[in-house]
Amino acid sequence: MTIDVTARACLTCGTDQPHRPSLGGRLRRCLGCGLGWTVPDPAEPSARYDLDYFTGGGYEDYFLAAPRRFEAGRRLRWLSSVVGPSVLVEAGCAGGYFLEAAQGAGFTVTGVEVSRAAAGFAVDRLGMPVRQGYFEQVAPSLRADVVCAFHVLEHVDDPRVFLRAARGVLAPGGWLALEVPNIASAAASRLGHDWPGLQPQYHPWHFTPQSLTRLLAATGFEVVRMDTAVFRYYMPLGYRLRHARRLLPGDLLDLRSPRLTHPRRGDLLRAIARRPRDTRSG
Ligand SMILES: [Zn+2]
Repeated sequence: MTIDVTARACLTCGTDQPHRPSLGGRLRRCLGCGLGWTVPDPAEPSARYDLDYFTGGGYEDYFLAAPRRFEAGRRLRWLSSVVGPSVLVEAGCAGGYFLEAAQGAGFTVTGVEVSRAAAGFAVDRLGMPVRQGYFEQVAPSLRADVVCAFHVLEHVDDPRVFLRAARGVLAPGGWLALEVPNIASAAASRLGHDWPGLQPQYHPWHFTPQSLTRLLAATGFEVVRMDTAVFRYYMPLGYRLRHARRLLPGDLLDLRSPRLTHPRRGDLLRAIARRPRDTRSG
């Protein structure tokens, strides 16, 4: 399933769409839709999303309860503005805190998580029903009204394969909720290599509002809602206030506003899309 990211083709736009080097050649960017992809660096083997992903590399805080529960609550409130309690599958559920929040709100939940450490934590510590494995492989055995994938699509081998698998899980009219880093954000433009959302060693794909919209359309989804949030959005209020002097100037510079969300220029791109009701399965 591994695809050649050095190939001269945008995943969404096809073979004849020109693209250009970006960030000193570390990425390619499609001139048609803005999709970016990481060019493998032979000197720095990619540390891909694998069985041991959550056991190192700056993700030690992944299992800390308070910030993860705050983040889960934010995501649940956003999702609940569109979808009521129903059957929900989360691809890449990590330690299971979003599943825990969704179950508490009345959803029937199942998680799929490739990391053994994270899946084990979700099952043993939070009591969540989580299947360890790759979502694309587990998906044919799942059915749901909602599929969520927060910070997953930028990690997968082929986002089209992932999205088609998600579509196959959903009933007609079912919902897909995604969040990915936004390489079209003001902060990404300003900070370049130093933008925390970049992580080219972990992220083969780099999305923009336009490229994600096209990719969703190409895989059988209609975008219902799309906007962006700054990193501060997921920080509890007390933390934001204590660290305002460090956190606020960049966002004010980038968005000219202290607001935590923005139509398209924030760090994190989130979308709710729908599998149309009036099409055949496939
Ligand atoms: Zn493209």
